[in-house]
Formats: sequence, C-alpha cells, structure tokens
Amino acid sequence: MELAQRELLESQALSEVCACQYYDLADTIDETPDKDLIAIIRHKIKCSICGK
Ligand SMILES: [Zn+2]
Repeated sequence: MELAQRELLESQALSEVCACQYYDLADTIDETPDKDLIAIIRHKIKCSICGK
C-alpha cells in the first residue's frame, strides 16, 4: 500500500513538473521526499527557469 502510494506520487510529480525540471526530477526522484513531490504536484514550487 505505501509503496503503491509512493509510486503514484512519483508518477504524478513527473507529469506535473515543468519540462525544464523534468530530467532533474527524474534523476533524483528516488531521493525526493514525499512532501516535495506533493509540493510539485500542487505547483507550490516555482520553477527558477520558466516561473511556472
Ligand atoms: Zn520550468
């Protein structure tokens, strides 16, 4: 159950993150805490490149 939720968070974060951050996130997603993935999904983190 927990693992499935984590995988869901990871896939949602990868689909919500902007294109400039995508590869960085894909590289580090295993080390990215759940709360950071949730922040990405809710667009609480502004991208420093495109501002989205
Ligand atoms: Zn961006």
